[in-house]
Amino acid sequence: MNPIRLSKAAAGVIAWLGLALMSASFIVMVLNSQRFLPRAIARSKRPEPVSVVVLDPGHGGQDSGAMAGNFLEKDLTLDVAQRIDRLLGARGVATLMTRIGDAYVSLADRSALANRVEAAVFVSIHFNDGSRPVASGVETYFAAHQIRSGPAIATWLPLLQRISSEESNVESQSLAGFIQQELVTRTQAPNRGIKAEQFYVLANVRHPAVLVEAGFLTNKEDVTKLADANYREQVAIAISNGILAYREMLKHRAPVQNGGAPPSS
Ligand SMILES: [Zn+2]
Repeated sequence: MNPIRLSKAAAGVIAWLGLALMSASFIVMVLNSQRFLPRAIARSKRPEPVSVVVLDPGHGGQDSGAMAGNFLEKDLTLDVAQRIDRLLGARGVATLMTRIGDAYVSLADRSALANRVEAAVFVSIHFNDGSRPVASGVETYFAAHQIRSGPAIATWLPLLQRISSEESNVESQSLAGFIQQELVTRTQAPNRGIKAEQFYVLANVRHPAVLVEAGFLTNKEDVTKLADANYREQVAIAISNGILAYREMLKHRAPVQNGGAPPSS
């Protein structure tokens, strides 16, 4: 082995060592920022539990959704969302509608709108379309896995994004539970329960997010009830009460991510 070959080999080893060291420190940096950032944020400012309710009337424009004669899902969802909007407004809760008229809004635009605001909950309103006419009642969906807020690092590191999105979604499930409970109690509609489903608008919203199916347009009794404005008002009251009950629960719950500090009260 001549001196030139030796120094070439040594330079190679040093280069590889340098690269390994850089990679190791990068990984340490990423893991540290993952571990410490959320706690640092939680300690510095306890976020408002729910400052905005994003209401998402399903379908719209050329997308009519389910139909029962000239009774269209897109009209019903807007009607009920507007009622919830008014009810929450009367209680001093800020709201944001993903559409305010009979317009087509893509699912991506709906979730993007919700993701632009902080401390929100997302409530999508729909009516069901069953394959059998006997199917009736109300059900509320949540996504078991959602994209999450937090350090931007998670969005460009595929592995970490995958890990964070696979954490189970307790908040959305809890919001779904409150809404479903209020709906069943107030409307006496058959209780189809809360269900996990990876609907696009749920999976791609970084806030607690649910989708309410407030009756079947393929069921005669459900359609008769939904044609009555008073019944739709009861559905709207139930959904807004469910949102308010969830918000109340958050207010009284001790902070979860406080880095081990004792509760403030
Ligand atoms: Zn729908």
